[in-house]
Amino acid sequence: MQIEAVDFFYLSMPEVLDIGDGSQDALLVRIKVGPYVGWGECEAAPLVSIASFVCPMSHSACKPVRDSVLGQRLDEVADIARIGDLVREQSLDLLQTDHTLSGIDMAMWDVMGKKHGVPVYELLGYRTAYPKTPYASALFGDDAQATLRKARQIRDQGYRAAKFGWGPFGKGTLTDDIEQVEAAREGLGPDGILLIDAGTVWKDDVASAARRLPVLQACDVTWLEEPFVSGALDAYRTFAARSGSVKLAGGEGCHNYWMAEHMLQHAGLGYIQIDAGRIGGISVAHKVAAAAEQRSISYVNHTFTSHLALSASLQPFAGLQHHEICEYPVESKPVAWDITRDHLLPNADGQIELPKAPGLGLEPDMESIKPYLLDVEIKIGGKVLYRTPPLD
Ligand SMILES: [Mg+2]
Repeated sequence: MQIEAVDFFYLSMPEVLDIGDGSQDALLVRIKVGPYVGWGECEAAPLVSIASFVCPMSHSACKPVRDSVLGQRLDEVADIARIGDLVREQSLDLLQTDHTLSGIDMAMWDVMGKKHGVPVYELLGYRTAYPKTPYASALFGDDAQATLRKARQIRDQGYRAAKFGWGPFGKGTLTDDIEQVEAAREGLGPDGILLIDAGTVWKDDVASAARRLPVLQACDVTWLEEPFVSGALDAYRTFAARSGSVKLAGGEGCHNYWMAEHMLQHAGLGYIQIDAGRIGGISVAHKVAAAAEQRSISYVNHTFTSHLALSASLQPFAGLQHHEICEYPVESKPVAWDITRDHLLPNADGQIELPKAPGLGLEPDMESIKPYLLDVEIKIGGKVLYRTPPLD
């Protein structure tokens, strides 16, 4: 079988707001391989990824991603790694490459699962997909009162864990942040697992992050996520040495295996968070999960978008029983929710289970995504390089 077509669909809310919410647009990827259709999703600004798929060659290590994908043989799982290596080699200097490859890689796994009639996690070597405990992933409210209301709502919906992040956290006074964390704890109740996401606000400034430590410890926060940018290894390690009961989480910014490997080795993390839509797909995420398991660092998916992306992000660690919690978006914009017909809803025990259907187990809903579809045409020197294909 050959990869006959790779199609991108740029979906967007009518208005994209300047907030830390990555669910406002999406780049859906469809590949056609023999009788099979596979789906994936890139977690990146959609137009840039489409451009990297079709851009003219700039030099030998700066080729469009499509040169390494279209027409390639895809008969067995091993072909996915071969194609991934070819893409990384031929598009080495194209910085969007790993993002673009991510959605294509997911779609290739989806096709292989459909061909073999098994879910992707089985192809990855897992016999069982263990249910995960979802944490409701939300943004901080604009003030502590708003966060208190959100946290109560999440508790009332039955979630045992919640994360609050971005918004005003770290951007106002120390007192503002203290009140925000206290409000989150009060709303969630004393027993809930509370996670805080600083959204890289302190870049590599350990002292500013450390001033928040007393309230994080007093409120029994399980992890502080991304106080610093991915790769600020010294800052992470220095902070981890003094953070006591509050573990560090990070890694969503990693966009290749080696960035994640460095975070695992040198950042003092308790949790590594990987977005399969950024790091190069399920293949690379699975490799990171294996490395995390070896180092006794908990692997967690990073997912703030659709349930197609959620399924893809859960597959890489589905069979790792002791990596128990998963990110679960609860504030997604309608475009993200409407991408799939079915959704991964909490079961009677409040746990998230992967579908047992072949591939990723979720199919996009053509009718419901139509209103969000943006028609894209990329033209250079009068020649059309890309045109959104029909959704059929
Ligand atoms: Mg985050």
